[in-house]
Amino acid sequence: MSNDDATSFRCTYCGQRNALAEGKPVEAARCGRCRLSATGAPHRKFAELDPDSYIHPLDAQALRALRAIPGVDTVLKKLIELTGESYMRVMSNANTVKVGPTQYPDLDAKLDIVCCTLGVPKPDLYVTVTDPIFGGGVGFNAMTTGVEKPFIIGYSLLLERLDEREILAVLAHEVGHIHAQHMLYTTAARLLALVTELLLAANPVTATFGLLINMTIRIALINWYQKAELSCDRAALLVVQDPNVIVSAMLKLAGGLMAGRTVNQEAFVEQAREFDRLYKERMVDKFWTIIAASGQTHPFPVWRVAEILKWVETGEYERVIQTASA
Ligand SMILES: [Zn+2]
Ligand SMILES: [Zn+2]
Repeated sequence: MSNDDATSFRCTYCGQRNALAEGKPVEAARCGRCRLSATGAPHRKFAELDPDSYIHPLDAQALRALRAIPGVDTVLKKLIELTGESYMRVMSNANTVKVGPTQYPDLDAKLDIVCCTLGVPKPDLYVTVTDPIFGGGVGFNAMTTGVEKPFIIGYSLLLERLDEREILAVLAHEVGHIHAQHMLYTTAARLLALVTELLLAANPVTATFGLLINMTIRIALINWYQKAELSCDRAALLVVQDPNVIVSAMLKLAGGLMAGRTVNQEAFVEQAREFDRLYKERMVDKFWTIIAASGQTHPFPVWRVAEILKWVETGEYERVIQTASA
């Protein structure tokens, strides 16, 4: 944020000019629109960001394997057509609060910042307590769904535990899925993960796509699903522009958010490095085989921290961020 004079400052994230209380240093100020704090550093935005510049090699590799299955796109499009993207949108609209300039305006402003930074048309954003599409328990994450017109769902339980920059990171991760052109595959993967055998048996429409999706596609999709997260964590870092924010958001995702208890970010980073060592030494092949076979779609925050730190430490993040202008 730049201090134009002693009485006002312009937010470098969203561009709003804010009044500055007399005697208050700009570093202690927070933007009235996006609620992000002054960092002293400019916020960089991309004129044109090529997804290939940040896509994680594991994501690219797993997606190539998925796309190599004959007819996969047609089958997955059919799956989404049968289950109905518009149905998911209507259900979301009926069970959530839609974010806009007068509804959670700071989230709306943050979404503007993310879309402007990555160069993505702004999707709709909904906030909810429970899963708005499939019902059930309280959610503790965020997701992006839809191929034709993707939309983001953020769970209030997650959002209320995150600080302002961590929320920016979560939104950037979600918009990253759109930017990286993941939507056909993430939407299909989520549908496959959520629709139970019971539903398949009870409903002939859903049963039809059950038959359409054969095991080869299912395994390739699950094998890719977690790896896609690595690319979107990179997109999140390209927006928040501080690796510590990604680490602290992951720490909370992993469970480190109990009120009033000591949380140690450095110890969590060390845990991530330890995971990486073990992963390299013993589990390289076995790990993903077990995950794919079990059909899990867990977020694996510790592994993701290890991967984002490597991206920073190899200088690759710096190389990409330098292509953005302040
Ligand atoms: Zn702002
Ligand atoms: Zn994701």
